Amino acid sequence: MSASFPKQAQVVIIGGGIHGCSVAYHLAKNGWRDVVLLERKKLTSGTTWHAAGLVGQLQGSHATTAFASYGVELLREIEAETGLSPGFRQNGSISIALNQDRLSELKRKADFARLFGVEAAFIETDAIKERWPLMNAEGVLGGIYMPSDGSANPTDLTQALARGARINGAKIFENIKVETVLTSNGIVTGVVTDSGIITSEFVVNCAGMWARDLGQKNGVGVPLHACEHYYLVTEPIAGLPSDLPVLRSYCDGTYWKEDAGKLLFGFAHFHAKAWSKDGIPENFEFDSLPFVEDDVMEVLELAMERVPCLTEVGIRTFFNGPESYSHDGRFTLG
Ligand SMILES: Cc1cc2nc3c(=O)[nH]c(=O)nc-3n(C[C@H](O)[C@H](O)[C@H](O)COP(=O)(O)OP(=O)(O)OC[C@H]3O[C@@H](n4cnc5c(N)ncnc54)[C@H](O)[C@@H]3O)c2cc1C
Repeated sequence: MSASFPKQAQVVIIGGGIHGCSVAYHLAKNGWRDVVLLERKKLTSGTTWHAAGLVGQLQGSHATTAFASYGVELLREIEAETGLSPGFRQNGSISIALNQDRLSELKRKADFARLFGVEAAFIETDAIKERWPLMNAEGVLGGIYMPSDGSANPTDLTQALARGARINGAKIFENIKVETVLTSNGIVTGVVTDSGIITSEFVVNCAGMWARDLGQKNGVGVPLHACEHYYLVTEPIAGLPSDLPVLRSYCDGTYWKEDAGKLLFGFAHFHAKAWSKDGIPENFEFDSLPFVEDDVMEVLELAMERVPCLTEVGIRTFFNGPESYSHDGRFTLG
Protein backbone atom coordinates (compact mmCIF):
# COMPACT_ATOMS: atom_id res chain seq x y z
CA MET A 1 0.00 0.00 0.00
CA SER A 2 1.96 3.03 -1.19
CA ALA A 3 -0.65 5.83 -1.29
CA SER A 4 -1.93 7.16 2.05
CA PHE A 5 -5.32 5.88 3.08
CA PRO A 6 -8.00 8.34 1.87
CA LYS A 7 -10.83 9.77 3.94
CA GLN A 8 -12.88 10.69 0.91
CA ALA A 9 -13.45 9.44 -2.65
CA GLN A 10 -15.78 10.06 -5.55
CA VAL A 11 -16.27 6.32 -5.90
CA VAL A 12 -15.24 3.33 -3.81
CA ILE A 13 -15.03 -0.02 -5.59
CA ILE A 14 -15.24 -3.07 -3.33
CA GLY A 15 -13.25 -6.06 -4.58
CA GLY A 16 -9.99 -6.48 -6.45
CA GLY A 17 -10.93 -9.30 -8.80
CA ILE A 18 -11.13 -8.85 -12.55
CA HIS A 19 -14.44 -6.98 -12.32
CA GLY A 20 -13.38 -4.48 -9.65
CA CYS A 21 -10.11 -3.75 -11.46
CA SER A 22 -11.98 -3.34 -14.74
CA VAL A 23 -14.45 -0.89 -13.17
CA ALA A 24 -11.55 1.08 -11.63
CA TYR A 25 -9.70 1.15 -14.96
CA HIS A 26 -12.71 2.30 -16.98
CA LEU A 27 -13.88 4.97 -14.53
CA ALA A 28 -10.36 6.41 -14.11
CA LYS A 29 -9.76 6.33 -17.86
CA ASN A 30 -13.05 8.12 -18.45
CA GLY A 31 -12.07 11.03 -16.26
CA TRP A 32 -13.45 10.06 -12.84
CA ARG A 33 -11.28 11.44 -10.06
CA ASP A 34 -10.72 9.97 -6.60
CA VAL A 35 -11.39 6.41 -7.71
CA VAL A 36 -10.53 4.08 -4.81
CA LEU A 37 -10.51 0.28 -4.98
CA LEU A 38 -10.42 -1.77 -1.76
CA GLU A 39 -9.46 -5.45 -1.68
CA ARG A 40 -9.77 -7.49 1.53
CA LYS A 41 -6.74 -9.69 0.68
CA LYS A 42 -4.66 -9.56 -2.55
CA LEU A 43 -5.79 -8.67 -6.07
CA THR A 44 -7.22 -11.78 -7.84
CA SER A 45 -7.27 -13.83 -4.60
CA GLY A 46 -11.03 -14.58 -4.79
CA THR A 47 -12.11 -16.49 -7.90
CA THR A 48 -10.17 -14.65 -10.61
CA TRP A 49 -6.78 -16.34 -10.10
CA HIS A 50 -8.08 -19.79 -11.00
CA ALA A 51 -10.30 -19.00 -14.01
CA ALA A 52 -9.59 -21.16 -17.04
CA GLY A 53 -9.18 -18.00 -19.09
CA LEU A 54 -11.60 -18.73 -21.93
CA VAL A 55 -12.65 -15.63 -23.85
CA GLY A 56 -15.93 -16.11 -25.70
CA GLN A 57 -18.13 -13.70 -27.61
CA LEU A 58 -21.08 -15.99 -28.40
CA GLN A 59 -23.73 -14.38 -26.20
CA GLY A 60 -27.49 -14.42 -25.91
CA SER A 61 -28.35 -10.72 -26.23
CA HIS A 62 -27.26 -7.54 -27.98
CA ALA A 63 -25.91 -5.96 -24.81
CA THR A 64 -23.83 -8.95 -23.69
CA THR A 65 -22.47 -9.46 -27.21
CA ALA A 66 -21.40 -5.80 -27.30
CA PHE A 67 -19.65 -6.26 -23.93
CA ALA A 68 -17.87 -9.42 -25.06
CA SER A 69 -16.67 -8.01 -28.37
CA TYR A 70 -15.40 -4.86 -26.60
CA GLY A 71 -13.56 -7.20 -24.20
CA VAL A 72 -11.61 -8.70 -27.09
CA GLU A 73 -10.73 -5.20 -28.36
CA LEU A 74 -9.43 -4.33 -24.89
CA LEU A 75 -7.39 -7.55 -24.68
CA ARG A 76 -5.67 -6.58 -27.92
CA GLU A 77 -4.86 -3.05 -26.70
CA ILE A 78 -4.15 -3.22 -22.98
CA GLU A 79 -0.49 -4.22 -23.30
CA ALA A 80 0.37 -1.16 -25.41
CA GLU A 81 -1.27 1.03 -22.77
CA THR A 82 0.10 -0.59 -19.63
CA GLY A 83 3.18 -2.58 -20.64
CA LEU A 84 1.60 -5.75 -19.18
CA SER A 85 0.56 -8.61 -21.44
CA PRO A 86 -2.78 -10.28 -20.64
CA GLY A 87 -1.56 -13.46 -22.35
CA PHE A 88 -4.25 -13.22 -25.01
CA ARG A 89 -4.08 -15.99 -27.61
CA GLN A 90 -6.57 -15.52 -30.40
CA ASN A 91 -6.86 -19.17 -31.46
CA GLY A 92 -10.58 -18.94 -32.16
CA SER A 93 -13.32 -21.14 -30.72
CA ILE A 94 -15.74 -23.79 -31.89
CA SER A 95 -19.04 -24.40 -30.09
CA ILE A 96 -20.58 -27.72 -31.04
CA ALA A 97 -24.23 -28.82 -31.00
CA LEU A 98 -25.40 -32.34 -30.18
CA ASN A 99 -29.09 -31.68 -30.91
CA GLN A 100 -31.20 -29.49 -33.21
CA ASP A 101 -32.38 -27.13 -30.46
CA ARG A 102 -28.79 -26.34 -29.50
CA LEU A 103 -27.87 -25.84 -33.13
CA SER A 104 -30.71 -23.30 -33.57
CA GLU A 105 -29.60 -21.51 -30.38
CA LEU A 106 -25.97 -21.35 -31.50
CA LYS A 107 -27.00 -20.04 -34.93
CA ARG A 108 -29.13 -17.31 -33.30
CA LYS A 109 -26.21 -16.29 -31.08
CA ALA A 110 -23.93 -16.21 -34.14
CA ASP A 111 -26.42 -13.77 -35.76
CA PHE A 112 -26.06 -11.47 -32.72
CA ALA A 113 -22.29 -11.69 -33.01
CA ARG A 114 -22.31 -10.79 -36.73
CA LEU A 115 -24.54 -7.78 -35.99
CA PHE A 116 -21.64 -6.47 -33.89
CA GLY A 117 -19.08 -7.18 -36.58
CA VAL A 118 -17.78 -10.31 -34.84
CA GLU A 119 -17.00 -13.05 -37.34
CA ALA A 120 -19.08 -16.17 -36.56
CA ALA A 121 -19.81 -18.91 -39.06
CA PHE A 122 -21.66 -22.23 -39.07
CA ILE A 123 -19.18 -25.04 -39.56
CA GLU A 124 -19.94 -28.62 -40.66
CA THR A 125 -18.86 -31.56 -38.51
CA ASP A 126 -16.13 -32.66 -40.96
CA ALA A 127 -14.57 -29.20 -40.87
CA ILE A 128 -14.72 -29.20 -37.04
CA LYS A 129 -12.89 -32.51 -37.01
CA GLU A 130 -10.22 -31.03 -39.29
CA ARG A 131 -9.61 -28.13 -36.91
CA TRP A 132 -9.99 -30.28 -33.77
CA PRO A 133 -8.60 -33.73 -34.71
CA LEU A 134 -8.73 -35.05 -31.11
CA MET A 135 -12.53 -34.78 -31.09
CA ASN A 136 -14.79 -37.81 -31.49
CA ALA A 137 -17.34 -36.47 -34.01
CA GLU A 138 -20.09 -38.98 -33.13
CA GLY A 139 -23.38 -37.17 -32.55
CA VAL A 140 -22.01 -33.73 -33.47
CA LEU A 141 -24.47 -31.93 -35.77
CA GLY A 142 -22.18 -28.98 -36.54
CA GLY A 143 -21.06 -25.89 -34.73
CA ILE A 144 -20.16 -22.22 -34.76
CA TYR A 145 -16.60 -21.13 -35.44
CA MET A 146 -15.46 -17.74 -34.10
CA PRO A 147 -11.92 -16.90 -35.22
CA SER A 148 -11.50 -13.88 -32.92
CA ASP A 149 -12.25 -15.79 -29.67
CA GLY A 150 -9.43 -17.28 -27.63
CA SER A 151 -8.00 -17.40 -24.14
CA ALA A 152 -6.15 -15.09 -21.78
CA ASN A 153 -4.39 -15.21 -18.44
CA PRO A 154 -6.93 -13.91 -15.88
CA THR A 155 -4.30 -12.86 -13.32
CA ASP A 156 -2.17 -11.02 -15.86
CA LEU A 157 -5.21 -9.29 -17.35
CA THR A 158 -6.36 -8.17 -13.89
CA GLN A 159 -2.88 -6.82 -13.08
CA ALA A 160 -2.86 -4.97 -16.42
CA LEU A 161 -6.25 -3.40 -15.64
CA ALA A 162 -5.02 -2.45 -12.16
CA ARG A 163 -1.92 -0.81 -13.63
CA GLY A 164 -4.08 1.00 -16.23
CA ALA A 165 -6.33 2.22 -13.42
CA ARG A 166 -3.33 3.50 -11.43
CA ILE A 167 -1.84 5.21 -14.51
CA ASN A 168 -5.11 7.11 -14.79
CA GLY A 169 -5.06 8.14 -11.13
CA ALA A 170 -7.02 5.43 -9.33
CA LYS A 171 -5.79 4.29 -5.91
CA ILE A 172 -5.80 0.58 -5.10
CA PHE A 173 -5.48 -0.74 -1.55
CA GLU A 174 -4.97 -4.39 -0.68
CA ASN A 175 -5.62 -5.98 2.74
CA ILE A 176 -8.47 -3.57 3.45
CA LYS A 177 -11.86 -5.08 4.15
CA VAL A 178 -15.11 -3.16 3.75
CA GLU A 179 -17.29 -3.98 6.74
CA THR A 180 -20.43 -2.08 5.70
CA VAL A 181 -21.70 0.49 3.25
CA LEU A 182 -22.91 3.69 4.90
CA THR A 183 -26.18 5.27 3.80
CA SER A 184 -28.28 8.25 4.73
CA ASN A 185 -31.95 8.33 3.74
CA GLY A 186 -31.32 5.41 1.43
CA ILE A 187 -28.44 7.13 -0.35
CA VAL A 188 -24.86 5.87 -0.22
CA THR A 189 -22.49 8.08 1.78
CA GLY A 190 -19.38 5.92 2.13
CA VAL A 191 -17.91 2.73 3.51
CA VAL A 192 -16.69 1.51 6.88
CA THR A 193 -13.46 -0.46 6.53
CA ASP A 194 -11.20 -2.20 9.03
CA SER A 195 -8.85 0.77 8.58
CA GLY A 196 -11.33 3.61 8.88
CA ILE A 197 -14.21 5.32 7.12
CA ILE A 198 -14.12 6.66 3.56
CA THR A 199 -16.94 8.99 2.56
CA SER A 200 -17.96 8.64 -1.03
CA GLU A 201 -20.64 9.60 -3.51
CA PHE A 202 -20.75 6.17 -5.17
CA VAL A 203 -19.96 2.62 -4.07
CA VAL A 204 -19.64 -0.28 -6.54
CA ASN A 205 -20.04 -3.78 -5.16
CA CYS A 206 -17.60 -5.97 -7.17
CA ALA A 207 -17.19 -8.50 -4.40
CA GLY A 208 -17.94 -11.55 -6.56
CA MET A 209 -19.21 -14.43 -4.43
CA TRP A 210 -19.09 -12.13 -1.37
CA ALA A 211 -21.38 -9.59 -3.12
CA ARG A 212 -24.62 -11.18 -1.94
CA ASP A 213 -23.76 -11.07 1.79
CA LEU A 214 -22.36 -7.57 1.46
CA GLY A 215 -25.50 -6.34 -0.32
CA GLN A 216 -27.73 -8.01 2.25
CA LYS A 217 -26.25 -5.86 5.03
CA ASN A 218 -27.90 -2.89 3.30
CA GLY A 219 -31.05 -4.74 2.26
CA VAL A 220 -29.87 -4.94 -1.35
CA GLY A 221 -30.49 -8.26 -3.11
CA VAL A 222 -27.57 -9.42 -5.25
CA PRO A 223 -28.66 -12.72 -6.78
CA LEU A 224 -25.31 -14.52 -6.88
CA HIS A 225 -24.15 -17.69 -5.17
CA ALA A 226 -20.96 -19.71 -5.31
CA CYS A 227 -21.14 -23.13 -6.94
CA GLU A 228 -18.40 -25.65 -7.62
CA HIS A 229 -16.64 -25.57 -11.01
CA TYR A 230 -14.11 -28.20 -12.03
CA TYR A 231 -11.27 -28.42 -14.49
CA LEU A 232 -8.44 -30.84 -15.14
CA VAL A 233 -5.11 -30.36 -16.87
CA THR A 234 -3.46 -33.32 -18.58
CA GLU A 235 0.20 -34.23 -18.79
CA PRO A 236 1.86 -32.88 -21.96
CA ILE A 237 0.37 -34.41 -25.13
CA ALA A 238 2.90 -34.99 -27.93
CA GLY A 239 2.02 -33.10 -31.09
CA LEU A 240 -0.82 -31.07 -29.54
CA PRO A 241 -1.14 -28.01 -31.83
CA SER A 242 -0.52 -24.79 -29.90
CA ASP A 243 -3.06 -22.98 -32.08
CA LEU A 244 -5.93 -25.35 -31.23
CA PRO A 245 -9.20 -23.40 -30.98
CA VAL A 246 -11.14 -23.53 -27.71
CA LEU A 247 -13.82 -26.23 -28.01
CA ARG A 248 -17.13 -25.93 -26.15
CA SER A 249 -20.02 -28.35 -25.89
CA TYR A 250 -22.91 -26.60 -24.16
CA CYS A 251 -25.03 -29.77 -24.39
CA ASP A 252 -22.85 -31.54 -21.83
CA GLY A 253 -21.38 -28.42 -20.20
CA THR A 254 -17.75 -29.11 -21.13
CA TYR A 255 -14.90 -27.09 -22.65
CA TRP A 256 -11.31 -27.74 -23.78
CA LYS A 257 -8.32 -25.53 -24.48
CA GLU A 258 -4.65 -26.08 -25.28
CA ASP A 259 -2.54 -25.03 -22.31
CA ALA A 260 1.26 -24.98 -22.85
CA GLY A 261 1.33 -28.38 -24.59
CA LYS A 262 -1.31 -29.85 -22.27
CA LEU A 263 -5.08 -30.02 -22.55
CA LEU A 264 -7.21 -28.19 -20.00
CA PHE A 265 -10.80 -29.37 -19.88
CA GLY A 266 -13.47 -28.09 -17.59
CA PHE A 267 -17.10 -28.49 -16.70
CA ALA A 268 -19.75 -27.50 -14.21
CA HIS A 269 -21.88 -30.01 -12.33
CA PHE A 270 -24.97 -31.28 -14.10
CA HIS A 271 -26.70 -30.65 -10.80
CA ALA A 272 -25.14 -27.41 -9.60
CA LYS A 273 -23.49 -27.89 -6.21
CA ALA A 274 -23.68 -24.78 -4.08
CA TRP A 275 -20.70 -23.92 -1.88
CA SER A 276 -20.49 -21.82 1.29
CA LYS A 277 -24.18 -21.89 2.15
CA ASP A 278 -23.19 -20.92 5.71
CA GLY A 279 -20.85 -18.14 4.66
CA ILE A 280 -17.39 -17.95 3.10
CA PRO A 281 -14.55 -18.62 5.57
CA GLU A 282 -12.91 -15.34 6.63
CA ASN A 283 -9.43 -16.56 5.65
CA PHE A 284 -10.44 -17.68 2.14
CA GLU A 285 -7.68 -16.46 -0.20
CA PHE A 286 -6.20 -18.14 -3.32
CA ASP A 287 -8.05 -21.26 -2.13
CA SER A 288 -9.54 -24.25 -3.91
CA LEU A 289 -12.13 -26.88 -2.94
CA PRO A 290 -11.83 -30.66 -2.59
CA PHE A 291 -12.05 -32.52 -5.90
CA VAL A 292 -14.75 -35.18 -5.38
CA GLU A 293 -14.46 -37.54 -8.33
CA ASP A 294 -17.81 -39.26 -7.69
CA ASP A 295 -19.62 -35.92 -7.99
CA VAL A 296 -18.38 -35.35 -11.52
CA MET A 297 -18.03 -38.89 -12.89
CA GLU A 298 -21.06 -38.53 -15.18
CA VAL A 299 -19.78 -35.44 -16.97
CA LEU A 300 -16.15 -36.62 -16.82
CA GLU A 301 -17.17 -39.75 -18.75
CA LEU A 302 -18.88 -37.62 -21.40
CA ALA A 303 -15.75 -35.50 -21.73
CA MET A 304 -13.67 -38.65 -22.21
CA GLU A 305 -16.06 -39.93 -24.87
CA ARG A 306 -15.83 -36.65 -26.73
CA VAL A 307 -12.03 -36.47 -26.51
CA PRO A 308 -10.93 -40.13 -26.25
CA CYS A 309 -7.21 -39.40 -25.74
CA LEU A 310 -8.16 -38.27 -22.21
CA THR A 311 -8.52 -41.95 -21.25
CA GLU A 312 -4.85 -42.59 -22.08
CA VAL A 313 -3.07 -39.43 -20.98
CA GLY A 314 -2.23 -38.76 -17.34
CA ILE A 315 -3.87 -35.94 -15.41
CA ARG A 316 -1.51 -33.42 -13.84
CA THR A 317 -4.04 -31.12 -12.14
CA PHE A 318 -7.47 -31.82 -10.65
CA PHE A 319 -9.01 -28.47 -9.78
CA ASN A 320 -12.26 -27.47 -8.10
CA GLY A 321 -12.92 -23.81 -7.39
CA PRO A 322 -15.94 -21.76 -6.39
CA GLU A 323 -17.52 -19.52 -8.99
CA SER A 324 -20.34 -17.09 -8.29
CA TYR A 325 -23.29 -17.86 -10.50
CA SER A 326 -26.35 -15.75 -11.21
CA HIS A 327 -29.72 -17.54 -11.25
CA ASP A 328 -29.98 -17.30 -15.06
CA GLY A 329 -26.31 -17.42 -16.02
CA ARG A 330 -26.33 -13.78 -17.17
CA PHE A 331 -24.24 -10.88 -15.93
CA THR A 332 -25.45 -9.24 -12.70
CA LEU A 333 -25.36 -5.47 -13.25
CA GLY A 334 -27.31 -2.52 -11.98
C1 LIG B 1 -12.78 -23.25 -12.21
C2 LIG B 1 -13.23 -21.94 -12.84
C3 LIG B 1 -12.98 -21.70 -14.18
C4 LIG B 1 -13.40 -20.49 -14.76
N1 LIG B 1 -13.13 -20.26 -16.06
C5 LIG B 1 -13.51 -19.11 -16.66
C6 LIG B 1 -13.21 -18.86 -18.02
O1 LIG B 1 -12.60 -19.69 -18.68
N2 LIG B 1 -13.60 -17.67 -18.56
C7 LIG B 1 -14.28 -16.73 -17.82
O2 LIG B 1 -14.62 -15.66 -18.35
N3 LIG B 1 -14.60 -16.97 -16.52
C8 LIG B 1 -14.23 -18.12 -15.92
N4 LIG B 1 -14.53 -18.35 -14.62
C9 LIG B 1 -15.30 -17.33 -13.91
C10 LIG B 1 -14.40 -16.22 -13.41
O3 LIG B 1 -13.39 -16.78 -12.59
C11 LIG B 1 -15.23 -15.22 -12.60
O4 LIG B 1 -16.34 -14.77 -13.36
C12 LIG B 1 -14.42 -14.01 -12.21
O5 LIG B 1 -13.20 -14.37 -11.62
C13 LIG B 1 -15.22 -13.15 -11.25
O6 LIG B 1 -14.44 -12.04 -10.93
P1 LIG B 1 -14.92 -11.03 -9.80
O7 LIG B 1 -14.01 -9.88 -9.86
O8 LIG B 1 -16.38 -10.81 -9.93
O9 LIG B 1 -14.76 -11.88 -8.45
P2 LIG B 1 -13.47 -12.22 -7.58
O10 LIG B 1 -12.28 -12.52 -8.40
O11 LIG B 1 -13.86 -13.28 -6.60
O12 LIG B 1 -13.19 -10.86 -6.85
C14 LIG B 1 -13.97 -10.40 -5.77
C15 LIG B 1 -13.00 -9.82 -4.78
O13 LIG B 1 -13.71 -9.09 -3.80
C16 LIG B 1 -12.97 -9.18 -2.60
N5 LIG B 1 -13.88 -8.83 -1.50
C17 LIG B 1 -14.97 -9.51 -1.12
N6 LIG B 1 -15.57 -8.91 -0.10
C18 LIG B 1 -14.83 -7.81 0.18
C19 LIG B 1 -14.94 -6.79 1.15
N7 LIG B 1 -15.94 -6.78 2.05
N8 LIG B 1 -14.01 -5.81 1.16
C20 LIG B 1 -12.98 -5.80 0.27
N9 LIG B 1 -12.83 -6.77 -0.67
C21 LIG B 1 -13.75 -7.75 -0.72
C22 LIG B 1 -12.50 -10.63 -2.57
O14 LIG B 1 -11.39 -10.84 -1.73
C23 LIG B 1 -12.18 -10.87 -4.04
O15 LIG B 1 -10.80 -10.68 -4.33
C24 LIG B 1 -14.11 -19.53 -14.00
C25 LIG B 1 -14.35 -19.80 -12.64
C26 LIG B 1 -13.93 -20.99 -12.07
C27 LIG B 1 -14.23 -21.23 -10.64
